[in-house]
Amino acid sequence: MTQITLSKTNCYYLENENGNMLIDTGYAYDKDLFLRQMGDAGISIGDIRYLLLTHHHDDHSGLVSFLAKENPDLVVIMHALCAHLVSKGYNAKEYGGRWCSKSMQTLTSVYKKFDKNWTLTFPPYFAGPHDLLLDFSRGSVPFLDYTIIPTPGHTPDSISLLSNDGSLFIGDAAANFLQFAGTHYAPPFITDTSRFYATWKELLTLPIDRIYPAHGKSFSPDKLKKHLYSLKESKMPLFTGD
Ligand SMILES: [Zn+2]
Repeated sequence: MTQITLSKTNCYYLENENGNMLIDTGYAYDKDLFLRQMGDAGISIGDIRYLLLTHHHDDHSGLVSFLAKENPDLVVIMHALCAHLVSKGYNAKEYGGRWCSKSMQTLTSVYKKFDKNWTLTFPPYFAGPHDLLLDFSRGSVPFLDYTIIPTPGHTPDSISLLSNDGSLFIGDAAANFLQFAGTHYAPPFITDTSRFYATWKELLTLPIDRIYPAHGKSFSPDKLKKHLYSLKESKMPLFTGD
């Protein structure tokens, strides 16, 4: 596994004799950094057969349309709902949600005043017939040596990938950054807190050895057990979308 570390997002590249897979891309403005990191790792865009999008957010799907243009054979794997949301080109607000903590809400509102790139938009991507859209009507989906698991809560279209060596690529269904802001291994924003923790409970039944998040360093699944239900909705400010 090769980690591609972008401005705020970790992407992961998994080699597989049946097709190499990239998990997530970064922001659209991460393009030069992405190309440099890939070059340093000796990976060219044409080497990527599958691109798994953990969900539609701008810091995950910013380079999808670019990569699909550069590599017409690329197969994008995503939740069917993600395919719909990623065609709109912005982070969905219609599902509501809450900040994980008051500190995170404050931190974000200060930060976005200084970051001109903070638009919550991305170049839209329109899925083609060769892409793999998953509806999970029969639960998790086996794919190559992996299992693709629906992990809703952060967003309704969130998915994760478990490899047969016990590595779980979790997207934003958990995170390991800004712990001082009271995140308790959650991402800054959660659309549905009870689904979010139901996802963690389900993950804790699986043979997971190590968790690789899109934000922050990898961690042990024990952290999910320890921080399960640590966030209380009564202390989580409502997300108003601005
Ligand atoms: Zn996200």
